[in-house]
Amino acid sequence: MALTGLQIYKLLPQTNCKECNFPTCLAFAMKLAAKQAELSSCPYVSEQAKTQLEAAAAPPVRLITVSRNGNQIAAGNETVLFRHEKTFYHQPGLFVRVRDSQPLDRVQALAAQVDAYRVDYVGLDLSFDGMAVQSDTRDPAQFKQCVEAVTAANHGPLILVGDDAAVLEAGLLAAPDAKPLLAGADAGNWEAMAALAKKYHLPLSVRGATLDELAHLSTQVQAAGVQDVVLDLNSRDFGNSLAGMTQVRRLALKHGKRELGFPLITFTGESAGSPEDEAALAGQHIAKYGGFVVLDQFSPALAYPLLVLRQNIFTDPQKPIQVQPALYAINDPGPDSPLMVTTNFSITYFSVANEIDGSGIPGWLLVADAEGMSVLTAWAAGKFDATTIAKGVKTTDAANKVAHRKLIIPGQVAVLSGELEEELPGWEIQVGPREAVDLPGYLKVMA
Ligand code: SF4
Repeated sequence: MALTGLQIYKLLPQTNCKECNFPTCLAFAMKLAAKQAELSSCPYVSEQAKTQLEAAAAPPVRLITVSRNGNQIAAGNETVLFRHEKTFYHQPGLFVRVRDSQPLDRVQALAAQVDAYRVDYVGLDLSFDGMAVQSDTRDPAQFKQCVEAVTAANHGPLILVGDDAAVLEAGLLAAPDAKPLLAGADAGNWEAMAALAKKYHLPLSVRGATLDELAHLSTQVQAAGVQDVVLDLNSRDFGNSLAGMTQVRRLALKHGKRELGFPLITFTGESAGSPEDEAALAGQHIAKYGGFVVLDQFSPALAYPLLVLRQNIFTDPQKPIQVQPALYAINDPGPDSPLMVTTNFSITYFSVANEIDGSGIPGWLLVADAEGMSVLTAWAAGKFDATTIAKGVKTTDAANKVAHRKLIIPGQVAVLSGELEEELPGWEIQVGPREAVDLPGYLKVMA
């Protein structure tokens, strides 16, 4: 937890020597607390105070990264409990688990399916992050084969799951291009697991049934030299996982519990009774407060809503997803094709563009710069007015793309038609439907 100026002042030499270019140690402490000065400016701060101050400046939830061959996912570094307070920065990694007790051809086929699955959502390319490979057999050779089958078919990062460090090491050696997460250490095996994680400089998850047990294990593996820790709160069902994971985040953020200041890993298939339950539980863990979410089921129907949910929750609400303001050609339009206008909020653009595309009717879609807002919001904020639209028509050279002088505006801003005719002399402003879904019918009637 960040220290106040007074707390920092107590750790300084308090000699007011001015060598830091501040008149007093207190003034320097206040600037440090406001992150407007560097600790290194004071040559007399003790090593002990330095350690304390650096620890206090560390993020409350440590950033943990797993990677493979250029692909990586990082979880942690979050600073708030609720998205409306600020924003959530690091999306949880979504992984699918396979087991070394399964036939290798099935493992490989699933790994390939996960690797190939892509969702094009408002211009973003969304996908799962990687695979978790679990050792059920405790046979190093079989685990190694399973890891090889996965890495041959999937390019994402890995989570290696098992309770035997020697078995995990065999899997590790089968994926030399990976920096995987090792899962998981518990009260019975943590020393061997921590030694393995330390040897290869890898993150390690620790599993505990209670918060006390988890905090104790976290402290033990850190003392053994593993600083990149992931927490596995062994409460798998909806209610207990929500309560436990919320407590972990709250204790880390609000109470400065360093031993719990790490991302959480969850295994959603272990309590879910059906694929639908697992999807709902994974959704809960994406929202609160999973860092690595490992599923046992995978299908496009399950993956799509989770990817979209994750994208929406981890998008900064103050920075809407936008498309480039421009004139877009849909269905190979010509000079007689209709010209429509909308805003550059991604969801608005894709709703309108998809309806035009689906209608099969060629058309020009002018996307005006409305600072990423939807039509009504932008209009209410004065960002989608006659001047903005007229400017869009002129800057995109729309008049030279069409032979006619007709512009279709969204029905929700019909009130702009008079002003627009003044801004665009010689143009006829037509009022289109209020909803994008009604555009195909409207265009057919107008054609
Ligand atoms: Fe205080 Fe250090 Fe600044 Fe001197 S250099 S005034 S001891 S903070």
